[in-house]
Amino acid sequence: MHEYLDALAVVRAQRPDEPITLLRPHAASRAARFFVEKFQGKSLYAVKANPSPALLETLWDAGITHYDVASLGEVRLVSKFLPDAKLCFMHPVKSERAIAQAYHNHNVRTFSLDSHEELEKIVRATDGATDLELCVRIRVSSEHAKLSLASKFGADPSEVADLLVATRQVADSLGICFHVGSQAMTPAAYAEAMEHVRAAIVEASVTVDIVDVGGGFPSVYPGMEPPALEGYFEVIHNCFEDLPISYSAELWCEPGRALCAEYASLLVKVEKRRGQELFINDGAYGSLFDAAHIGWRFPVALQRSDTSIGTQMAEF
Ligand SMILES: *Cc1c(COP(=O)(O)O)cnc(C)c1O
Repeated sequence: MHEYLDALAVVRAQRPDEPITLLRPHAASRAARFFVEKFQGKSLYAVKANPSPALLETLWDAGITHYDVASLGEVRLVSKFLPDAKLCFMHPVKSERAIAQAYHNHNVRTFSLDSHEELEKIVRATDGATDLELCVRIRVSSEHAKLSLASKFGADPSEVADLLVATRQVADSLGICFHVGSQAMTPAAYAEAMEHVRAAIVEASVTVDIVDVGGGFPSVYPGMEPPALEGYFEVIHNCFEDLPISYSAELWCEPGRALCAEYASLLVKVEKRRGQELFINDGAYGSLFDAAHIGWRFPVALQRSDTSIGTQMAEF
């Protein structure tokens, strides 16, 4: 790994023919410290957003101690690089073997679920363990999110109370979680979801130890300028204070994008220009999957060394 002042310095020094990933650890540290200091609860990093070991270590050093893992591969990865991290297996659909290995070999105690079937799987795979922290995922709207994840998972409101009661019977600690979808453009998304949490707690009348508001915290992209994150935290804190739960209940969140969006950028070479179209040396089957397949617009900046040809590109 080399250190450079900025992207242009890389272009000048290397004149790269291959795409290069540029890392900005200070940006990830800053984002992590922001959550650690301002979110009044635990912030779990959603590892799937960027599972790179160097980033995991950067976030750990900045105070992120809990990690939301979605597969056994992520469990192994985080245990290897951050042996003291607390792992929370928050994918609501897991194989029985993955649950067993996570519990028995990697000390994972926290699991999410959204069905009775999954609850039974967790009980079987952990041999009826009595030290489980189980979070019931409820289905909430993702209408405020630019990238919907919400409708895919989560127990239906008509099943939630029953599932909470059943989970309470086997869990040492009971949580409720949700995901409003990624890049939620307004804090109202969380306020609306918290109303579902309230309704579920009231209907089931169970003691809830954890309320986990999931991910979805936005970053800034071209054409998408969300309100400041403090506003999201304020709405969430206020809703949490109003829930019918005990004083000792914990508030959690699971930011992915918000912790890693500014960590990495990609330096590509323009190989050819055809009118307003640029042909670059990375793409849909490389690092630009989201740009190509879901039309995500990333911020772009021209980095041109003094000696490069094709000055007519200045207008790009
Ligand atoms: C992807 C995911 C996250 C992170 O979402 P962001 O929008 O990147 O913050 C958090 N929790 C769960 C369960 C996820 O699947």
